[in-house]
Amino acid sequence: MADQDQEAFQERLDRIARMFSGIVSHAEASSRTRCPYRDRHDRCTALFRCRNQIVEDAESDLLTCGHDGTFDYRTAWESHPRARQRARAKISAIKEEAASRRREQAGEEQQA
Ligand code: SF4
Repeated sequence: MADQDQEAFQERLDRIARMFSGIVSHAEASSRTRCPYRDRHDRCTALFRCRNQIVEDAESDLLTCGHDGTFDYRTAWESHPRARQRARAKISAIKEEAASRRREQAGEEQQA
């Protein structure tokens, strides 16, 4: 390769490197406050539970991201969604059992 071609080639490489470094810097800064599961319409695309999810419409599956970008979004992610489901089921069973006991007690008191 001639010296001129080599210089022109190096110049282009340097220009591309500058462009990419700007993109990488922006992506890195953005990743600290913008969740990767948030799409350009501010909808949540995550397939797990997150405290920031807002149900837009009860009849559709669309979830909006409620994260305002002022804190670390990662702490809102459910790391054990199945454990959460089990806990909810257990709590529902306990509530139902307690309600049943109260109904029984109320019935016994009326008979007495
Ligand atoms: S709701 Fe949670 S998981 Fe979904 S985009 Fe927002 S921060 Fe990310």
